[in-house]
Amino acid sequence: MALPDWTVYLPVLCFASVCGGFYICRVFKCARISAWKNSPIAKLMARTEKPLFWIAYSLYTRTKLGYIFHKRQMRKARERYPAGHSRTQPTIINDIKIIPVPILSDNYSYVVIDTASNMAVVVDPADPQPVQACLEEEGVALQAVLCTHKHWDHSGGNRALKRRYRSCRVYGNVMDNIPGLTHPLSDKDTIDFGTRLRFRAFYTPGHTVGHVIYLLDGRAIGGPSSLFSGDLVFLSGCGRMFEGNASTMLSSLDTVGSLNDDTLLWPGHEYAEDNLLFAAEVEPCNVVRKQKLLWVLQQRSQRLCTCPSTLAEEKQYNPFLRSHSQDLHRALGLQQKQDEDWTSYKEGHL
Ligand SMILES: [Zn+2]
Repeated sequence: MALPDWTVYLPVLCFASVCGGFYICRVFKCARISAWKNSPIAKLMARTEKPLFWIAYSLYTRTKLGYIFHKRQMRKARERYPAGHSRTQPTIINDIKIIPVPILSDNYSYVVIDTASNMAVVVDPADPQPVQACLEEEGVALQAVLCTHKHWDHSGGNRALKRRYRSCRVYGNVMDNIPGLTHPLSDKDTIDFGTRLRFRAFYTPGHTVGHVIYLLDGRAIGGPSSLFSGDLVFLSGCGRMFEGNASTMLSSLDTVGSLNDDTLLWPGHEYAEDNLLFAAEVEPCNVVRKQKLLWVLQQRSQRLCTCPSTLAEEKQYNPFLRSHSQDLHRALGLQQKQDEDWTSYKEGHL
């Protein structure tokens, strides 16, 4: 989720309108930066920055304002990218078709179809219009929405699709207040659609308190599994910790790290280029990361989608799946002290 500008600016503006006038006069009297840093408003802003952010975040996630903002973002994105922000290709694995649907400015929904039975499910249909167009073009009936988390840029189309497809079920974690939720999930629940579409839900808090990822079981289709990771893991990156601490997030990332290397990764956003540039800061000498960045730059120069990658690839360049790697520790200059055991945390969480 990219937190909208207004969630930061609106409370700041409200705050400034109440007490800004008095302090602004004082600020302009500060001739030097050091004076500004010591000014009462700077100290007050530093103290209130976090509370203001959380007020804005609560407005976005818990009130109608968030949905109104989301609808505005949908309209703007449809105008700016009438054919979607990226060009995508379906991936077909033994009659199972996975279609990335580019929505908003950098999100992906995923339509997953069993072409033998014409059953379809969709992951995170934040904008119902392009998702419905995809379903109609494929001539399939929507069985269910698999929702990773509550942020509107993942859940904003749940209710509209449920209205359009009356028998459509909406899955997600009850702790996340998913719009239109009909089937609450617990950790490691399985969801079957016929005999070939078998998903397993993993509870992965950190980005939100009820974040869930979905693994399409490759054994049922005789191919690799597919992981729909929402905002937990991206190509070479991970989601922001809005509702969890580092320990919770690391535990959720370890869940991904424990999956098979040939698993295909289908993330919620097209963040590959920025994430690989960040990874370059962390591990400048990582050869696999360099090669992947060259490929991603080539793809993005033609606005081509960069997913899926595999977890085998991610484990070689994604810093957030390499927190236990000695290569990463060396690159960061971390020294393990004699009384520290860096493997104990991981073993305790797998
Ligand atoms: Zn999010």
